[in-house]
Amino acid sequence: MIVDLRSDTVTRPTAGMREAMFAAPVGDDVYGEDPEINALEAEVAALFGHEAALFVPSGTMGNQIALTLLVRPGEELVCDSDAHIVTYEQGAAAALFGISTRTVPSARGIADPEAYAAQIRAPDWHIVTTRALAVENTHNRGGGTVQPLAALRRLRAVADATGVALHCDGARIWNAHVAAGVPLATYGGLFDTLSVCLSKGLGAPVGSVLVASAARIAEGRRVRKRLGGGMRQAGVLAAAGRYALRHHLDRLADDHKRAQVLRDALAPLGVTAADAAETTNIVLLDLTDAPLDAPALAAAARERGVLFGPTGRRSARLVTHLDVDDRGLEHAVDVLTDLLRG
Ligand SMILES: *Cc1c(COP(=O)(O)O)cnc(C)c1O
Repeated sequence: MIVDLRSDTVTRPTAGMREAMFAAPVGDDVYGEDPEINALEAEVAALFGHEAALFVPSGTMGNQIALTLLVRPGEELVCDSDAHIVTYEQGAAAALFGISTRTVPSARGIADPEAYAAQIRAPDWHIVTTRALAVENTHNRGGGTVQPLAALRRLRAVADATGVALHCDGARIWNAHVAAGVPLATYGGLFDTLSVCLSKGLGAPVGSVLVASAARIAEGRRVRKRLGGGMRQAGVLAAAGRYALRHHLDRLADDHKRAQVLRDALAPLGVTAADAAETTNIVLLDLTDAPLDAPALAAAARERGVLFGPTGRRSARLVTHLDVDDRGLEHAVDVLTDLLRG
């Protein structure tokens, strides 16, 4: 048995999803003629209470289009120092769009609105202009942490008071919505732009959606083309996303429960906190006192069919998802318990 806990991106399309893809009506989306993509964009915009949306090949492209819509070359973005935007996107904001970025530290990814506020520069012709703030929900490197709604509301107030825009990297906003019970439209109402992934916990093979005003999405469509992200009969991919929204959203609660089973099982071994409040489908291991370091543990676990990723010499990450069932989870717990007992 192989239990792949490296990421929630490793899921494969289910039989039902493949049928939906097979049946999808398609057209040339660069001409705006793919009915399935048009339907997906309308549905996702409505879910977040925004005017419009844009289907893009990846979350990175969704984030980067949003940033260039909000921040001009030589102007500034503020985000947290562990953000996906500054960690895993190959410096795109600087390399492609001339955006200057400053980061604020965060505890497990949770945004501190006052720390953001302190970084916003008052308009002054000597000084770089701060144009946008970005926040990640849930927070990947923070361990799938859900941003408290009160903090997000405070960030919105900070943005309004200072005239800067607010972007959400919502690759896993679905997990936040299910875990915290916050309506998607409530999240949508707090941000000028949101990028949401269909290919993480929702289990679609490809695709993200950028959500914003109609004017921003019209301009975003132009930027997507510039980046080579204009796709043709990609309705087969949009169909997977629409299927995922209908069938795989509520079940994210199962992933969260299984992640908690993992935490509870491993906590007595001193490698993770059993009570990881406000977390979702990601489990971070602290292997400081473990008999094996992270690469050795990962290699030994792999031999027994359990895959996960070290995040450092003495730290690792396990992610639950659609393709990990109770039997798989039990196997992972058995193998890890065995190896960590030494
Ligand atoms: C996965 C992810 C993205 C987008 O990644 P792609 O691989 O480009 O689709 C963006 N933000 C976060 C927090 C992510 O975890």
